[in-house]
Amino acid sequence: GYQRVLEENRKLYNQVQDLKGNIRVYCRVRPFKPGQSYTLSSVDHMDERTITILTHSKNGKEARKAFTFNKVFGPSVSQAEVFSDMQPLVRSVLDGYNVCIFAYGQTGSGKTHTMTGPKELTEEGLGVNYRALSDLFHISNQRKETISYDISVQMLEIYNEQVRDLLSADGVNKRLEIRNSSQNGINVPDANLVPVSLTSDVINLMSIGHKNRSVCSTALNDRSSRSHSCLTVHVQGRDLTSGNILRGSMHLVDLAGSERVDKSEVVGNRLKEAQHINKSLSALGDVISSLASRSSHVPYRNSKLTQLLQDSLGGQAKTLMFVHIAPEYEALGETISTLKFAERVATVELGAAKVNKDSGEVKELKEQIASLKAALARKE
Ligand code: ADP
Ligand code: MG
Repeated sequence: GYQRVLEENRKLYNQVQDLKGNIRVYCRVRPFKPGQSYTLSSVDHMDERTITILTHSKNGKEARKAFTFNKVFGPSVSQAEVFSDMQPLVRSVLDGYNVCIFAYGQTGSGKTHTMTGPKELTEEGLGVNYRALSDLFHISNQRKETISYDISVQMLEIYNEQVRDLLSADGVNKRLEIRNSSQNGINVPDANLVPVSLTSDVINLMSIGHKNRSVCSTALNDRSSRSHSCLTVHVQGRDLTSGNILRGSMHLVDLAGSERVDKSEVVGNRLKEAQHINKSLSALGDVISSLASRSSHVPYRNSKLTQLLQDSLGGQAKTLMFVHIAPEYEALGETISTLKFAERVATVELGAAKVNKDSGEVKELKEQIASLKAALARKE
């Protein structure tokens, strides 16, 4: 009985997910830094799905530009609230879906805050990475009578178009190959793959990863803003009755800062880094927008980042992009270019048709919930 309701519930989740489309874009606006509250903001207005930016034209005239996303989170929205919105997406990994979640935005806009949390981690501060894994542990435990799950993680960094393993003591300096043909969905076979079953395992691994990452940076060269870091979760489930195996994976990516650098001012390594970042972020944008427009050719091969994420972008895979905004008026230029990037990625899925789908979706949800309730009542 209970098992069946669970099953129906899961189906319902998936149906709603499917109706929502496979590419979603959430915008999150960082609060002002403490003591900075009287600074002019570039954000004029926010509601559940729209953010309006205040600009000034050359002659000083005010202008407003609105951008629409699947969701807009204002500065006071908590980590828990953000996570609760994406929970069904995360859970679909246990049903064998591939999921890709990434954080985009200029340095200082809140990417690491969303994915990992603030430097001084508290329970409330825990970011998506921890919450997602805890939730997977929780749900897999709930289902343990019917499906036996193995969950393991890899932690990689892409810096200057080279892939490195953040979970190996000596491997940070070794370049790894990406193979997209592997049977079990593990496309960087030489990177450490660590089984996890407790949130404390994840916390330990993340701290190893962070240490390995900072080994490579100096005070002047904050590598974390110039490289992409990716926590990949591999899930294998075995149905205890049929023996069938299902596999799902989830990439959780903290992207390099999207800020444009002034090419006339940077030289040497800094210029090379900037070129690699530009290349990989635009490759990511190209892949997602060609998926969104259902183009027949998807240019995965153009960067290591898109190669790494290939199995989790497109097809039945589900993608969620967080677009991070710094509220300061001084950041306006980057804010506009970030929102334009996101808009390019999102427009096709976010047309007027979407609204109609939403109302159908709600109607269907209501009907299904009513029938679930009736089923439960009959049981009781
Ligand atoms: P990024 O990774 O994009 O460079 P960070 O995540 O490091 O940016 O954020 C910059 C600073 O702003 C950090 O001190 C972070 O804790 C803080 N911050 C970012 N987003 C939020 C938020 N939603 N609520 C509170 N503080 C935030
Ligand atoms: Mg960061």
